[in-house]
Amino acid sequence: MATRRSRPSPERPAPVVDRVLQTLAQKTDGLELPAVEKISGSQRDDPFQILIATLLSARTQDATTLAAATRLFARARTPQAMMRLSEQQIEQLIYPVSFYRNKAAFVRATSRALVAQHGGQVPRTLPELVKLPGVGRKTANLVLILAFRGTESICVDIHVHRIANRLGWVRTRTPEETEQALYARVAKRWWPLINRYLVAWGQNVCRPVYPRCDRCAIAADCARAGVRSRS
Ligand code: SF4
Repeated sequence: MATRRSRPSPERPAPVVDRVLQTLAQKTDGLELPAVEKISGSQRDDPFQILIATLLSARTQDATTLAAATRLFARARTPQAMMRLSEQQIEQLIYPVSFYRNKAAFVRATSRALVAQHGGQVPRTLPELVKLPGVGRKTANLVLILAFRGTESICVDIHVHRIANRLGWVRTRTPEETEQALYARVAKRWWPLINRYLVAWGQNVCRPVYPRCDRCAIAADCARAGVRSRS
C-alpha cells in the first residue's frame, strides 16, 4: 500500500477554494459531528479508541458506529484489554456495523500488533499506521489529525472524494488520487479541517443522491461536476 508521495506545495491556492472552505467553516459550525470526531472529543483524544472507532466507521452509519464503539469501549479501552476479548465477543459487541466479522478480526489483530510491535501505543507516522491490519490511508490520516493534532495530512473518505470532484477542485477516480490532488490544490492550513467540513456537508447538503444544490451556500462556487439531479 502506498504510504507517502511527494506533494506539490500549494504555492497559489485558488481563491475560490479558500472562499468555499471559509464558508463551510461557518456553515458546518453547529452541525452534528461525524461519529469518530464525537468519540475523539468524548474520549479526550485517546489514540487507540480513535483508531478503533475509525476502523469500525467504514461504510457504516454514524449512529451505528457510535453505538458499537460505545459498547466495545465499555468492555475494552486498551489494546491489552481488547486482546482478552475473543473475536466472537468483539463481533457481538460491534454488530451491526457493516462487515462486522472482518472488522472484529482487524480490531483484534491491530490490538495484537500494537502490543507486540509498538509497546501498546498507537504509532505516530503514516507508514507505521498503514502497516496495521485493516488500516488504510483514510484511517491513518484521520488518526494523525484527531489523535496527534497532525497538520500534514488530508483525510479523504467518500464524502471528501465526491464533493471535491463535484466542486471541480479535482478530477479523480479514487479517494487516494483525490488526496494527492488536494495537497496541491488546497492551502495547508485547511488540510486537517477538510474532512470535518466536507463530511458534514456531505451528510446534510451535498448528499450522494439528490444533493440540495438549491439551498447550498457554496453553489455559486460549485461546478456541479457529474451532478444530474437536484432536489
Ligand atoms: S451546489 Fe450541489 S453539488 Fe455543489 S456542493 Fe452544493 S450541493 Fe454539492
